Amino acid sequence: MSDVTLQFLGATHTVTGSRFLISTGTSKVLIDAGLFQGTNEIRALNWEPFPTKASTIDAIILTHAHLDHCGYIPLLVKQGFTGKIYCTTFTRDLAEVVLLDSAHIQEEDAKYTDRKGYSSHKPALPLYTIEDAQKAIKQFEPIDFRVNQNVATDVAVTFHPSGHILGASFAEIAAAGKTFLFTGDLGRPLHPALVPPDPIPAGPFSAIVTESTYGDRIHETPTSEFADAINATIKRGGIILIPAFAVDRTEVILMKLRELIENNTIPQIPVYVDSPMALASLKFYRDAIDTRSPEIRPDVADQWAGQDPFDAGNLHEMRTVEESKSLNDIHSPAIIVSASGMASGGRVVHHLAQLLPFDKNTVILVGYQAIGTRGRSLGDGAEHVTIHGESVPVRAQIVKAEAFSVHADGQELEDWLKKTEKPHAVYVVHGEPESADIFAKRLHNELQWNAIVPEPNQTVAIN
Ligand SMILES: [Zn+2]
Repeated sequence: MSDVTLQFLGATHTVTGSRFLISTGTSKVLIDAGLFQGTNEIRALNWEPFPTKASTIDAIILTHAHLDHCGYIPLLVKQGFTGKIYCTTFTRDLAEVVLLDSAHIQEEDAKYTDRKGYSSHKPALPLYTIEDAQKAIKQFEPIDFRVNQNVATDVAVTFHPSGHILGASFAEIAAAGKTFLFTGDLGRPLHPALVPPDPIPAGPFSAIVTESTYGDRIHETPTSEFADAINATIKRGGIILIPAFAVDRTEVILMKLRELIENNTIPQIPVYVDSPMALASLKFYRDAIDTRSPEIRPDVADQWAGQDPFDAGNLHEMRTVEESKSLNDIHSPAIIVSASGMASGGRVVHHLAQLLPFDKNTVILVGYQAIGTRGRSLGDGAEHVTIHGESVPVRAQIVKAEAFSVHADGQELEDWLKKTEKPHAVYVVHGEPESADIFAKRLHNELQWNAIVPEPNQTVAIN
């Protein structure tokens, strides 16, 4: 029996809160430290005591900068974690943007809750502050892709591009003689800017931990529903609101809009990006394309040399709160791209309150909508949503455009995974229960793999 264990501290039976702890007897290394997002019940998990003393963790290995993978790091630092956080350079850059934004939103929400008086805490507390996030960022240690890096006495990691967002990786980990592969979030071969995921290493691995966000479905090939929805809204004189994850989804949407405008599929109407985090991340994507980063597809770098792939000449970057509020006064067709992507916070919530009550407007959902978020309620056909304690009628058109997903679907995941030798075990995480179960069955039936859907906080011995 080996002394090496793996504990599932999050992303079990849910898509958020990715946190996995490898313990070797000598070292403890945490892979991802994400926030739980979604229902009140799920978010409450962020306030639970962390099962391991933060000061005993030697290092964190971070696969990418999305909040559900990095958003808990400031809280670990606050609780005494002093080790390094290993990740790629763009993950460090983007995580800084994401964590500062997250801290800001939490401080603002706590203040807002206090003003409105609907908190059970007095005063309402943020999960962490901007100061906590700034402290955490100092512990980030960027390393290159495909370089083997020791992160603890008997633990080493190699990052490979995963094609999900800029900087995103899957992680190959060696720990006290055992080998692991964590997929992080695996992208698709079709991303409009990023190189496709590296092939999976040959293995065999002691354990593979795979995501399963879309493990239960096959993405449809892109249809015209996105452009159709925009054109129909313009005809009605309405406004198109696109809640979009600030990092990557905003870029993918802007590239699509530019393409649709240039081939005259949609007319040239103003496009407003109203999210400080999206604008900050846009800068890193522009830099990556300008400097021909190896993460950017060479044909994309060639095509856009000296140009801005995100702006067809109609892009407006709304940075200040005043600029954001000025969008309330727009009464002619326009497109607003705003975060958060699941409409659970951020500036998009104010736009929803303004735009949902009128049937000439359209909300286009372009990303995964976790259970319990406003985005999910809208996608499921809710007639009212609660915004800042008030019920807002949903009269706007709601359109789902899933083709924009930057997660592999069940078939793409299986095709990617099956190129490695059969692992001793594969753990299926980062999916809602049905999705994880269906994907585990698929791996079992198609590949005869020992596929397990772990329980929250379950610890397994690695053989
Ligand atoms: Zn992600």
